[in-house]
Amino acid sequence: MAKVWLDGQLVDEDQAKISIFDHGVLYGDGVFEGIRVYNGKIFKFAEHLRRLYESAKVIRLKIKLTVEELAKATEETVRANNIDDGYIRLVVTRGVGDLGLNPFFCKNSTIFIIADHIQLYPEKLYKEGMKVVSASTVRNHPQSIPPQVKSLNYLNNILAKIEALDAGADETIMYNHQGYVAEASGDNIFIVKDGDIYTPPPQSGSLPGITRAVVINIAMQENIEVIEREITRYDLYTADEFFLTGTAAEVIGVVEADSRVIGDGKPGPITELLRKKFFEYARS
Ligand code: PMP
Repeated sequence: MAKVWLDGQLVDEDQAKISIFDHGVLYGDGVFEGIRVYNGKIFKFAEHLRRLYESAKVIRLKIKLTVEELAKATEETVRANNIDDGYIRLVVTRGVGDLGLNPFFCKNSTIFIIADHIQLYPEKLYKEGMKVVSASTVRNHPQSIPPQVKSLNYLNNILAKIEALDAGADETIMYNHQGYVAEASGDNIFIVKDGDIYTPPPQSGSLPGITRAVVINIAMQENIEVIEREITRYDLYTADEFFLTGTAAEVIGVVEADSRVIGDGKPGPITELLRKKFFEYARS
């Protein structure tokens, strides 16, 4: 049985329980990271830890462990589960409080770490590309919840994802309050036009993805220009290529958006190149 790290101890997964008074449960009050393990190495671990602590700082959540202690606990959990290629979920909630909203009544953050395997989409979708639809659910306003904060509160994304599932699509495109493309429900968005790559900036309402940063670097090394700028629905529909990036999704092509076929209806050559180079880099 898998072992989960919970507040200082490795416990069997069916014994990993938290209080119903935890504000992570009552209000989705907390932060988290999803992290890959490739070839026994935790991929971009420092970047994930940094984002976790920065997210926590912004929401005034004190993580009771130092970065070094949390890193050690994560490594211990990966080892205990013999994960060579897998996925880590690192979660810090506000902790146990009372039934009111006041986060400062929660004296101790709750921390748990899961190390497991993940296959976000079936293999067929990686080969053939996915279909996406635009969500009518508008991405949270950046002045409500900063998009850089990876919080436990995913209802905005989940409502958009439900729209995609209702429409028989694989994923959804979320737009910000100004109508510009923000991100997919749990992934960043890229398009290719005339050999250049475009992606929305975080202020358009997207999480600054760690996979996104890796893919931008790889593209630049391949001498492909990467331009961060606001993207419209029109840009998506008329793109030569379209792909998503994320820790769990990795790099995946999109071949149809709101019934418009992208390019020739197959994941494009730049998408395929970046996907291949991404794995070479991740496994090196
Ligand atoms: N946007 C959202 C809303 C996410 O939850 C994620 C992570 N699943 C991403 C983008 C991609 O970020 P990363 O590459 O750091 O996983």
